[in-house]
Amino acid sequence: MRAHQFSNRAALSILLKTSLSIPVGCRSYAVDGREAGGTKGSDWLPTQFVQFSCRLHALGIAAAACVPDSLTYIGALIALNQVIVSGAGMYPKSTLLGNNMVRLSPAAAARGEVALSFDDGPDPAVTPKVLQVLDQYGVKASFFCIGKRAIACPEIVAETAARGHRVENHSFSHSHAFGFYGVKSLASDIHRSQEALEKITGCRPSLLRAPAGIRNLWLDPVLTQLDLTLVSWTRRGFDTVCRQPQTITQRLVQGLAAGDILLLHDGSSRRDVHGRPVVLEVLPRLIEAIAAKGLTPVPIV
Ligand SMILES: [Zn+2]
Repeated sequence: MRAHQFSNRAALSILLKTSLSIPVGCRSYAVDGREAGGTKGSDWLPTQFVQFSCRLHALGIAAAACVPDSLTYIGALIALNQVIVSGAGMYPKSTLLGNNMVRLSPAAAARGEVALSFDDGPDPAVTPKVLQVLDQYGVKASFFCIGKRAIACPEIVAETAARGHRVENHSFSHSHAFGFYGVKSLASDIHRSQEALEKITGCRPSLLRAPAGIRNLWLDPVLTQLDLTLVSWTRRGFDTVCRQPQTITQRLVQGLAAGDILLLHDGSSRRDVHGRPVVLEVLPRLIEAIAAKGLTPVPIV
């Protein structure tokens, strides 16, 4: 099914079917948030929590129709459920709403690997310098690019891929409203970025990181349709707001363990007191700290 054909009606139909059918082969999730079995295309199945929420709404409507006096209690229950759904969407590491990779696989962790990932690029002033530092240390990483920025600087994205890094999807527009999009808008935005990045690199992204890690109930079915896996992170340094390289490095390194996914930004990087992008100050220290711990930086695969 093409992205533009994936309508609100299709998603609602799936959710309704799910809410009315008692246990439909629930997916199992590995510790790292990756799906154990794997689903493709139309095989999307909601998480147990989403199924429970759908049933709660369906039963609530039926109960309110049969016993009008219970409306207050039912309304309160549904409102509480909505608060939990919204909270799960606002918490980037949550797996309640769907598949979400917050760590590398146990096999990668056993090999002592940690992932370096960069968001919000490409940035013509910063990304080439980030690539230089990575080359200097012989390190490969994942770059979650914003589609419209990739179109504005295709040569940087092409160079990123040519140097052996992974180019992944970070939405097309990076809208603050991404977490409020319906199925159609999500599918359209993500698909547009897929097309742009594939056209530039010749390789279709397999991972998506939601803008600011915020999402909603509709993202999981859309990603399943587009054969994308949602990735968040294990630790981040807040390098878009903090201008102290030492503090950012410490946040990333303190408690660092094999299997961690680290989040940095080549786009939107805060400048330090000397006006330099903090990511360029942090990166060499971070790579050296990773090596000192006997760990190996890798892209997310
Ligand atoms: Zn971002």
